[in-house]
Amino acid sequence: MAVTCVVGANWGDEGKGKMVDYLAEKSDVVIRFQGGSNAGHTVINQYGKFALHLLPSGVFYPDVVNILGPGVALDMGELIRELDDLKKRGVPEPKVMVSERTQVMLPWHKLFDTYEEERLGARQFGSTRSGIAPFYSDKYAKVGVQAGELFDKEALRDRLGPIVEAKNVLLEHLYHKPTMNLDEVVDRLYEDGMKIRHLIADTSSFLHDAVKKGKNILLEGQLGALRDPDHGIYPFSTSSSTLAGFATVGAGLPPWAITEVIAVVKAYSSAVGAGPFVTELQGEAAHELRERGGDAGEYGAKTGRPRRVGWFDAVATRYGCRMQGATTIALTLLDVLGYLDKIPVCTAYEIDGKQTTEFPLTGTLDRAKPVLEELPGWKQAISHIRTFDQLPKQAKDYVAFVEEQTGVRVGWISVGPRREQTIMRNR
Ligand code: GDP
Repeated sequence: MAVTCVVGANWGDEGKGKMVDYLAEKSDVVIRFQGGSNAGHTVINQYGKFALHLLPSGVFYPDVVNILGPGVALDMGELIRELDDLKKRGVPEPKVMVSERTQVMLPWHKLFDTYEEERLGARQFGSTRSGIAPFYSDKYAKVGVQAGELFDKEALRDRLGPIVEAKNVLLEHLYHKPTMNLDEVVDRLYEDGMKIRHLIADTSSFLHDAVKKGKNILLEGQLGALRDPDHGIYPFSTSSSTLAGFATVGAGLPPWAITEVIAVVKAYSSAVGAGPFVTELQGEAAHELRERGGDAGEYGAKTGRPRRVGWFDAVATRYGCRMQGATTIALTLLDVLGYLDKIPVCTAYEIDGKQTTEFPLTGTLDRAKPVLEELPGWKQAISHIRTFDQLPKQAKDYVAFVEEQTGVRVGWISVGPRREQTIMRNR
């Protein structure tokens, strides 16, 4: 049995979707354990190019069971849309299960996300406005709704009555926007619930059995370590834990079950939204890296917003791998750096005249300047290469640099966005 967790070591967009799609071939179950439809995992395979926001990246294998665990923010409309899109594009119907304990996005979550960013104006967080922060606030304030609760309309109305009343006060008096009607809210949730009723199940019993039978299970994280609410760049973080340590909670597995934590590390840096970003590039250098990055430039899979880009940050990545408890690294987007004569990398921060290799608190990060070194570039395309030995020496040295800086072995190297553009290193 293997229970493998695939998580981001950076700010997200490290190519986790590609790695999960690649690893899912040998898996029985793929589980999303946190986050919602606020980010996108790009997967490119024989069916085309997909930006999955909510569905686990195992949906392209008809035998894999794909689970949305209780830790996920379930946008029912988005789930229905993504399933329809797969069908329209010729993907065989995937096996999907939604935990009866997964909470659903309520109609005001997206509204509040948008209105709050509007209210904050210049001080906004750069939210994708998918309702994630209001969703998790409500969940932990115990005014959320679990998927399994959607089918008793009377009980739903009883529960939602005082909640809608309180939300309407905010809509009217804080945001000066139209209020909601309780009956309409209940009808809409019930109708959406009925559309996905066949997917809702007791997934923790299913997983308990899967572990007992020694099945191969993949846990798919969203965003990255530096967006974790406790250990990331708070408050420019997301609202659910992005760490492997949370994966068993958000999925419903025992904590001892995880056998491998693969931290996906990007060969350079990128980030979406606001917040400190020490190695960020500006001007022409940023433009060039952004246009050459990803599979068609570094633009958000969810929003299409240009991503902020910068050089590899060993301070942030070492910290990210440590907080993830990484046992192996999958180093992605290495091919992108093939245009550079010399590749700048950040090995320390200078803060108030002193150098440090420890990742500090958000407020201090604002004052950090990157200490850069240069590694020799390989100046050639490597996307066709399938074995480590065939990589140019400078690319192998770059891999060795990442290992030395993080103290974690690089087990996979991704040299292109497609499933097959992956090098697995022998142990
Ligand atoms: P995720 O959220 O971590 O799954 O990452 P995204 O899908 O948001 O962003 C990663 C981007 O890089 C996508 O456009 C992928 O298609 C692309 N990608 C993934 N791995 C590689 C790689 O090794 N090389 C190149 N050139 N692109 C890659």
